[in-house]
Amino acid sequence: MAKAFDPELLYVECGRCGEPVLWEPGDTTRLLAWYGVNPETLDERCLIISDGCRACDPDAAGYDTEVVRLRPADDAPFEGVKT
Ligand SMILES: [Zn+2]
Repeated sequence: MAKAFDPELLYVECGRCGEPVLWEPGDTTRLLAWYGVNPETLDERCLIISDGCRACDPDAAGYDTEVVRLRPADDAPFEGVKT
């Protein structure tokens, strides 16, 4: 068994400007719980795309996010979820 992946380590990137997005500790865990995504199905090949960020859209109340897997894994039937 591989070491459990910490979802807090997921990389978050802005899909508009490409800047990395920094979230508060716990934000990723809350997002995944809200999506109903089991963190055990995620690994370092997954990342979160934010539709906008403070840098390119500072006035937005919030940003749509999408969890994506860069490469499919045979042992993890995870599919991207979209808001
Ligand atoms: Zn941005």
